[in-house]
Amino acid sequence: MKSNAELIAQASERLNPHLSGDRLFGNVAAVIVAESGSEFEGVCIDTGSGTGFCAEAAAIAAMVTAREYRLQRIVSVWRKEETDELFMLPPCGRCREFIRQIDEHNLDTEVILGEDKVIPLRDLLPHHEWPDPVLQTTPVEVTGAVVADPPL
Ligand SMILES: [Zn+2]
Repeated sequence: MKSNAELIAQASERLNPHLSGDRLFGNVAAVIVAESGSEFEGVCIDTGSGTGFCAEAAAIAAMVTAREYRLQRIVSVWRKEETDELFMLPPCGRCREFIRQIDEHNLDTEVILGEDKVIPLRDLLPHHEWPDPVLQTTPVEVTGAVVADPPL
């Protein structure tokens, strides 16, 4: 099994920032180790109007393309060019939920945040269960709604 340091280094090798106009691609890279031990890589593509996606999503798409759905481990990295410092990024909120929805077992995914720092996804995504319905003790009376005049 690869060490965290080896996976971090592998992800950092995928970093390849590329500008397309004012859009930046490849400045975050992710490596996934799937349940089978196979590895999948991806980079972010930051395009406008919400059309881009995170490195984690790209790596997961590659994993699902290979018909795998469960993650063992994931690491994502970004390099600050000014200082050449490498950072391990926790998945954003959307990706945390995305990983969970791919397979509920993925709550046990080990998120690598440093050579000696690993946090299970479930700790990064608390209160993920579908909520219980609100107990309604009094009937709600629906009255006419007030609708503002549309702008001219
Ligand atoms: Zn994300």
